[in-house]
Amino acid sequence: MAIHHFECSCCGKTLSPDEVTYVCPDCGGNLDTRLDYEFNPGLVSKEGILDSREMSIWRYTALLPVSDPGFQPTPLHAVGMTPVYRPPLLEKTLGMRELWIKDESRNPSASFKDRASAVVIARAIETDVKTIVAASTGNAGAAMACMSASVARKAIILAPRSAPPAKIAQLLTFGAQVILVEGTYDQAFDLSIEASHEFGWYNRNTGYNPFTVEGKKTAAYEIWEQVLRHMPERSEPLTVFIPVGDGNILSGLAKGFKDLLHLGWIDRLPRLVGVQADGSAAIANAFFSRSDTIMPISATTLADSISVDLPRDGLRALKAVRETGGWYVTVPDEEILKAIPALGKAGLFVEPAAATAYAGLLKSLREGLLDPAAPALVLCTGSGLKDVRAATMAVNPAPVIEPTLAALKGLLHG
Ligand SMILES: *Cc1c(COP(=O)(O)O)cnc(C)c1O
Ligand SMILES: [Zn+2]
Repeated sequence: MAIHHFECSCCGKTLSPDEVTYVCPDCGGNLDTRLDYEFNPGLVSKEGILDSREMSIWRYTALLPVSDPGFQPTPLHAVGMTPVYRPPLLEKTLGMRELWIKDESRNPSASFKDRASAVVIARAIETDVKTIVAASTGNAGAAMACMSASVARKAIILAPRSAPPAKIAQLLTFGAQVILVEGTYDQAFDLSIEASHEFGWYNRNTGYNPFTVEGKKTAAYEIWEQVLRHMPERSEPLTVFIPVGDGNILSGLAKGFKDLLHLGWIDRLPRLVGVQADGSAAIANAFFSRSDTIMPISATTLADSISVDLPRDGLRALKAVRETGGWYVTVPDEEILKAIPALGKAGLFVEPAAATAYAGLLKSLREGLLDPAAPALVLCTGSGLKDVRAATMAVNPAPVIEPTLAALKGLLHG
């Protein structure tokens, strides 16, 4: 679908796609991409989507600002259409009537970030850019490297040296040019932007590049197909729990759900709940103090994927939660760690950032913000294999015995 124009989410300035590549030239705000169907909803066919046999984000090409880049079959065509689960044990333990979990670890590089990187690589192919760079705490880079490898290109990734080893191994394995920065994610972010200006590289950075949110909105379309479409009309609205670092996943979901409302395919917006770590809560702080200004913090949390000093899509993620009647909640690292084996009981293995969303659900139930009778969905954004150290910290070590029946009996009975 063609891009109608870009619109600054902060000052409202409108720009054409050949005038601007990243953020608003006047105020630095994130750009919203306005597509032709927003002005002419007749351009998209609901049946066309529901009947599509494409089982990836490319089934929503009619709603995306890029066309399907081809390269089939490759991991690029395995992004999205991740499964949703109803965990019976968790529903029972929590006394919830309807709990959904969407498992984003099933994406090719094992995190939600593949959605954004797939759309950015499609844009890069369309605009014929040679070199893509991304700053990343790990997952965005791994996703960019994976998508680039799918189309036989090479990405340049800047990541903090402290990123979990599995994420760095992924980057290197996908053949990206990996440069580790002795500093924070925020410092890598700023450096990658300087490098883009200096060397003419196309920058994929979360939020900074308007196409990341366009990829992330596809998760909202899937939640519509998989959950909302089958919900009885009079039930409570769905509440969606989302882990928040830069705020770009939350903004993406908000955009996707607003599209569906605008097209008349849903009749109300799900409530979006942003979950941040206590030690990385810049957006939640603004929400609690009813402010429109996001003040940078000095982030410290073991959930590395959401450890952000200055969220790069904070304002949109703040407004979206207010608009949908949702809320922000913050959780300490101990609760994040505990949420890893708690989700394990539902057959999921998640990294700390993904566990954060579940910890936010638990806190919301505890504090009476969420009615256990209302339907809720937790977005599990990344795989536990990405950060085995954190999972190991969250469980008791297994006993070690001699390989004899006597030793086994001794353990079981003693
Ligand atoms: C990036 C990431 C998030 C947070 O997304 P933002 O857009 O930065 O808010 C959450 N979980 C995982 C696993 C991630 O990689
Ligand atoms: Zn602006």
